[in-house]
Amino acid sequence: MSYKIKKESIREELVSQLAFYKHGTKKQQKIAGKIEELVNTIHCFQCLDTRQSWYFRDIKHRLDGNGDYYTMSCAICSTDDWLKNNLSNEIYGASGIKLFSKENYSGAERFKALEEYVIKVNPELDTQDPVYKKTEKKVLIIKKNTRNLKAEIGNIINKCQKMLRAHYGDITALASLLSNIEVNISNCENDNEQEQILCEEVEENKFMYVKIKNNSTTKKKSILGLCEYNKYKLDINIISHLLISENEAANKLCKNIVNKQASNDIAELSEMF
Ligand SMILES: [Zn+2]
Repeated sequence: MSYKIKKESIREELVSQLAFYKHGTKKQQKIAGKIEELVNTIHCFQCLDTRQSWYFRDIKHRLDGNGDYYTMSCAICSTDDWLKNNLSNEIYGASGIKLFSKENYSGAERFKALEEYVIKVNPELDTQDPVYKKTEKKVLIIKKNTRNLKAEIGNIINKCQKMLRAHYGDITALASLLSNIEVNISNCENDNEQEQILCEEVEENKFMYVKIKNNSTTKKKSILGLCEYNKYKLDINIISHLLISENEAANKLCKNIVNKQASNDIAELSEMF
């Protein structure tokens, strides 16, 4: 009988759904990771290793009040035997994974069953993806050699003010953001490229987002070995967006960055732009 023949298409369809999730939203990617761990260990895709499936009871037996369905052992990896009668066909195996009809060969439905299972086992996966609207990116690039760092920082902060004001007119809401930018760009001593994400809530659900890459360096110079001074090679890249958070997850992510609480959140937001 055809239901006893292993169908390779089940696994193939399931894996193609998995590939779709792997390139999906953050939430889908996390779920895909858990499903992939399972898929790599599953031997029987007909029953997802529950070793069971279900089928319809013979019409002449249904009037006994014991239901229209029965659970059976998997016809592919087990003995294809009746196990018990069921009132409903919403049946789950001992592992918590949904059982399928012995004549169901859908990879997509099995993918959904595995998704339901991994969320049940890892409830932290069932979180909203953050949703944002953002304004067009503005970019400020500074490449310059100077001896007078203080004056240059003043110039850069002026340019930043203009850039941010183009996103959001009320510059007073950006005072602390500008002072954090100033702290960042004043640091030219560190030779490693540094990336910093700054975020400031300018009004309810609106955040100014700034990413600074500072690769500036300092060299000590002297005139005839007498008068020592610093020569600064400024190499700074600043980008900005105005973010409008459109759900609670996005709001929370931004607020955590404003409060400098979560490096994970910063990484997550950084990947988005
Ligand atoms: Zn099986």
